[in-house]
Amino acid sequence: MLSKPQIQWAVQQMEKVFPNQTHTELIGSTPFQILVAIMLSAQATDASVNRVLPKLFHDYPDAQAMAAAPESRIQADIHSIGLSKTKAHRLKTMSQQLLDEYQGHVPDNRKDLMSLPGVGRKTANVVLGDAFGIPAFGVDTHITRISKRLPIVPENASVDQVEAALEAALPQTEWIQAHHTMVLFGRNVCKARNPECATCPLLKICATGQKLTQTK
Ligand code: SF4
Repeated sequence: MLSKPQIQWAVQQMEKVFPNQTHTELIGSTPFQILVAIMLSAQATDASVNRVLPKLFHDYPDAQAMAAAPESRIQADIHSIGLSKTKAHRLKTMSQQLLDEYQGHVPDNRKDLMSLPGVGRKTANVVLGDAFGIPAFGVDTHITRISKRLPIVPENASVDQVEAALEAALPQTEWIQAHHTMVLFGRNVCKARNPECATCPLLKICATGQKLTQTK
């Protein structure tokens, strides 16, 4: 396992490759819109989600409008990103719950966020960071992969263990930026297939990268 200084160094190197990643690439100007965008981004690219958001937010800018909309209309707006039936249902029921329990506002704590339909711990953490600036480490598939390859955590570590390891190694003030940086690094450098180990700035401390480059 990497030591705490090594983890901090690794994140610094990733931030040199992708500097100033303090915000999501998803469109959204209110906590409600940021939550909707993050929910839609599950199993879809940010670019594909951003293509449907302007019309969706024009039609349904807040929880009240979304809760009142026919599910079929929401589904039509988000059809191109896939899983549109499930996602439309979740958006509508989530919006209704915001109206019923939170006066139409997105709650700014993890427990209440996770009580919403379709909102798991990762989504809740990303919303806390992106909508409210509250430090939280949303761990997705990219962050998990990087953490196991370096490794920061053992191969069988749970998502919660990845989150705990990163939070223990990095100052709270860096969590939001580190989350966005690691997601981009995983998408573009430490990819699931064919990671770019030969040119990766982390190669000298990365166990997986050293193995992969030796076998080539
Ligand atoms: S050396 Fe390879 S496996 Fe290691 S972090 Fe870089 S791209 Fe990922």
